[in-house]
Amino acid sequence: MGVLDGNALAGRLTDLLGWDATDSLIRCRSCGDGGAMARVAVYATAMGTVARCRSCDAVLMTLVDEIGGRSWFGMPGIDALEVRRA
Ligand SMILES: [Zn+2]
Repeated sequence: MGVLDGNALAGRLTDLLGWDATDSLIRCRSCGDGGAMARVAVYATAMGTVARCRSCDAVLMTLVDEIGGRSWFGMPGIDALEVRRA
């Protein structure tokens, strides 16, 4: 399975959150490492997408798309996500 960077999430994050979060800062709940969402390691399969911390390999984010238009977006390993107000 090939590893992508967080920029591969740009379109999906924009669809789900309403903005491109790849520039947003995140902090790993496991090791405390911080940086832009674009830095994460992304593994995409037919089952879904998993983003992992590049420092400690913890699962930061999961995304599963159901048939019929519903998606499940989890952030089990993200302690904080930067949200920029307009
Ligand atoms: Zn980490």
